[in-house]
Amino acid sequence: MNAPWNWSEQGACRTIAPDSLFVQGQEQNRAKSVCLGCHVRTECLAYALDNREEFGIWGGMTERERRALLRRRPHVTSWQRLLETARNTHGQTNDSNRWDIA
Ligand code: SF4
Repeated sequence: MNAPWNWSEQGACRTIAPDSLFVQGQEQNRAKSVCLGCHVRTECLAYALDNREEFGIWGGMTERERRALLRRRPHVTSWQRLLETARNTHGQTNDSNRWDIA
């Protein structure tokens, strides 16, 4: 039997210090840049949104950006399903507006 896929082991951030994703102010922009080429960005952001992660950079978004998104879309019950559908519909890109979910 195969072990379940662990997306976090595939993250572009796996080789950097975890603390570098939990920064404030201007340092967040540098931290977010790590996510630009990450192949598991969708999974990471969906996890953070579905689990209401309060701190840190997840899926290329700061906690403030995630809070704003959650306020705009209070009726989403599964960000994983929504983001995977968006990715499958619109394809994979690396720009900051890759998900048509605003
Ligand atoms: S999206 Fe960013 S925080 Fe999430 S696994 Fe990838 S590099 Fe790490």
